[in-house]
Amino acid sequence: MEHDRPVAREHLLDWLRDAHAMEEQAETMLKGMEGRLEHYPELRTRIAQHIQETQHQAERLRFCIQDLGGDISLLKDWTGKFMATMQGFSGAMASDEVVKGSMFSYAFEHMEIAAYRNLIAAAQILGETQTAQVCQSILEEEIAMASWLENNMSNVVSQFLLLAGRDPGAAKR
Ligand code: MG
Ligand code: FE
Repeated sequence: MEHDRPVAREHLLDWLRDAHAMEEQAETMLKGMEGRLEHYPELRTRIAQHIQETQHQAERLRFCIQDLGGDISLLKDWTGKFMATMQGFSGAMASDEVVKGSMFSYAFEHMEIAAYRNLIAAAQILGETQTAQVCQSILEEEIAMASWLENNMSNVVSQFLLLAGRDPGAAKR
């Protein structure tokens, strides 16, 4: 059985718009976390780096959408819709507590990883090499962020528990 190309293409465009909304959401959440952190300099630095990456990812996604002939004027509505669906999740991520924040960041990175793997598969089916390549390079940044968190979350927990005994307010940030 053959893929119906116009149908597949519309789905690819939808998923790219979802990914764009996801990156806008990521930027908001990461900036919130970065702005609060005081006692976790390494986490803060890595988050600052990922904010830059995230902004560039959103830019590259807009480029892919346009390159495929998609409309980018509706992206804002798309972002609003995505944020509404993710509200519980992002509320928890925005919580004023570093251990929860890093846990949700780690989960969020894995959602991004799944999204880009799917986008790569769809782009390859359609022979959209450039979109597949862009998504592959974004995927690598998400994997790097997820593995950084994987390797550093135990330090965050340790620092949190050290501070919690002395100054519970400070421990959160
Ligand atoms: Mg991202
Ligand atoms: Fe990410």
